[in-house]
Amino acid sequence: MDFLRELGLQHDNSGAYNGEWLACTGEWLASHDPATGKVIGRVRQATGLEYEACVAAAHAAFLRWREVPAPKRGEIVRKLGNAMREKKDALGRLVTLEMGKILQEGWGEVQEAIDIADFAVGQSRMLYGLALHSERPGHAMREHWHPLGAVGVITAFNFPMAVWAWNSMLAYVCGDPVVWKPSSETPLCAIGLTNVVRPVLEAEGFGALATLVIGSGREVGNRLLTDKRLPLISFTGSTGVGRKVAVTVGERFARSILELGGNNGLILMDDADLELAIPAILFGSVGTAGQRCTTTRRLLVHEKIADEVERRLLRAYEQVRIGNPSHEKTLCGPLVSPSAVEEMMSALAQLEQEGGKVLCGGERVKLPGAEAGGNFVQPAIARAENHYKIVQTETFAPILYVIRVKDFDDAIRKHNDVPQGLTSAIFTLDVRHAERFLSTLGSDCGIANVNIGTSGAEIGGAFGGEKETGWGRESGSDSWKQYMRRQTNTVNWSNALPLAQGIQFG
Ligand code: NAD
Repeated sequence: MDFLRELGLQHDNSGAYNGEWLACTGEWLASHDPATGKVIGRVRQATGLEYEACVAAAHAAFLRWREVPAPKRGEIVRKLGNAMREKKDALGRLVTLEMGKILQEGWGEVQEAIDIADFAVGQSRMLYGLALHSERPGHAMREHWHPLGAVGVITAFNFPMAVWAWNSMLAYVCGDPVVWKPSSETPLCAIGLTNVVRPVLEAEGFGALATLVIGSGREVGNRLLTDKRLPLISFTGSTGVGRKVAVTVGERFARSILELGGNNGLILMDDADLELAIPAILFGSVGTAGQRCTTTRRLLVHEKIADEVERRLLRAYEQVRIGNPSHEKTLCGPLVSPSAVEEMMSALAQLEQEGGKVLCGGERVKLPGAEAGGNFVQPAIARAENHYKIVQTETFAPILYVIRVKDFDDAIRKHNDVPQGLTSAIFTLDVRHAERFLSTLGSDCGIANVNIGTSGAEIGGAFGGEKETGWGRESGSDSWKQYMRRQTNTVNWSNALPLAQGIQFG
């Protein structure tokens, strides 16, 4: 495949980069095409030895990079955005090949990386502090933002490029290098992307800004969490692993950004415009084969329209083309691994034990040409109650639970009654219900939408969740502040030394 060569990928690849590719000494990791089960390539993983060389290089780069003026850092980020733009086609194809999302979404993921680069370029001239009025005469108070240090970025398989970019582009303009540990399901995406950005950084003498270290949780993951040279760990992944990250990083008083599991609800009121709602639900629940943190998992539908909505959804699901994600007409590609298929099957079995009913889908699908493997499933719709244990859990697969609600209050109560709090949506034409949903009495999630689905956020907004989805925000708005340290300054330009609060001392 030409695009693999274009991205500098070989059959055997190094799993550590710190300004140059290192000769790794760890075990080999094979990467599989989830559509066929075939091996795409291998990566020699990093051990503690290469880990040390990576973090030391990133820290040394920090000591120099923090002195480069922020707008100049932005200029280099502009070049990174352009490098990704040039290779958008190849990068998108690699995402599709290794992760399994359809090509449109693979390209969309790379576009997200380009968009956040553009955003960060502007941000590099807007790292605004504050000028404050002092209570003391002849005194000035200010708030300054300073670079923080090298940032550890641990990413999930389902956004194998964009999440690195969300973190890195902002971190770079803020003055911080990044040490990236990608998912072991998608190591080639990380290597291919590193190969695209490294010529830009190497030409500036800053290759180690994009340090990459691929290795197991034991060899690499845990080291990142406990490494004092990394004052911020940005973790994207499951709530289970995130809980450990929170405790370990918190123990050394470092910061974390935690982007964890979602269990996103979409409320459909009886006045909803179904012409908008049905496609939004379909994209939200079947897109990326249900493997987005923002996937629509719970449909809270007003009982007056529930039968009609079920009928329309069943018709829409019948038309979903399952297949190789690189084929133009495919809407639903494979799950990432055979164990993800198992998890979907066991979730549906548990649902039926708890009293739920599968209305369609839920079967494994064998496609011609995928004899060696192929983790395809038929997306499922199931009737359920919100309190079922399985409904309270995030299953990373295309299962849409349909839950009937009596009225708006019932819908909000059920909507918020899950441990997670990432994205949410309501479809209604009643402005009072819409505004109430967005008010303090409404959705308890980090993201709440009206007449638009739960999935597919823009980079301009702050992205993140509440409750067991974690804390912190990535991407737009003022998320940049997390990658910097705040300093409050007081300058006395008078001839006296008055104390704050009028205290007289001696
Ligand atoms: P995962 O938790 O299995 O793995 C995430 C990352 O953590 C991987 O890089 C993995 O290698 C690493 N890891 C595993 N054990 C570790 C340890 N002990 N120490 C340090 N790192 C360790 O998640 P996944 O299966 O790759 O991704 C799916 C999950 O990610 C879902 O729960 C999904 O909702 C979540 N997710 C959340 C967001 C968000 O923004 N909220 C975005 C994407 C994915």
